[in-house]
Amino acid sequence: MTAEPLSPDELKALVRTVPDFPEPGIQFRDITTLIGHPKGMASSVRHLAAFARACGAQKIAGMEARGFIFGAAVAVQLGVGFIPVRKPGKLPIKTIGIDYALEYGTDRLEVDPGAIGDGERIVIVDDLIATGGTALATAQLLRDAGAVVDDALFVIDLPDLGGASKLREAGVGVQALMEFEGD
Ligand code: AMP
Repeated sequence: MTAEPLSPDELKALVRTVPDFPEPGIQFRDITTLIGHPKGMASSVRHLAAFARACGAQKIAGMEARGFIFGAAVAVQLGVGFIPVRKPGKLPIKTIGIDYALEYGTDRLEVDPGAIGDGERIVIVDDLIATGGTALATAQLLRDAGAVVDDALFVIDLPDLGGASKLREAGVGVQALMEFEGD
């Protein structure tokens, strides 16, 4: 895209808010409308790619599923590899994984250990940070595999849920294109 990208405020206006999904009280920030817009997807990726380049990303890691959309596109822009951080049982090889706590119960993320070089600078990309549980587990998993993980990039931050603060406490810098108040 050669024309000026949409500004973060213009991108924010393209995010659809769906109340009470997936359960009562949750304001679901839906990126379907953002990525379906002719300039919404390209502009979001361009802003994220500028952040990732400034972070010195040698690879991008994105979490299943919406992190794949933005993460893979950012990796292409930078000309670096992409690491899919997958839900359990999806990768056809011996994986390394991490279990992490959810509000109710636990979840697990897995990666291919062969995808991560020792000392490689990997930048995390996802659509949204809420409590930060997913991103923190991803950072820990990649670090355990030998990567340097100093940065995580998001389209949306929900600062009231404290995820970005949690990541910063763990030494992971957080940048997002927009914030929404509340949860
Ligand atoms: P968390 O681990 O709490 O930071 O949640 C991260 C993931 O949950 C994100 O990758 C989102 O895809 C999804 N998510 C959590 N809260 C919302 C929300 N209010 N709207 C849309 N997606 C959400």
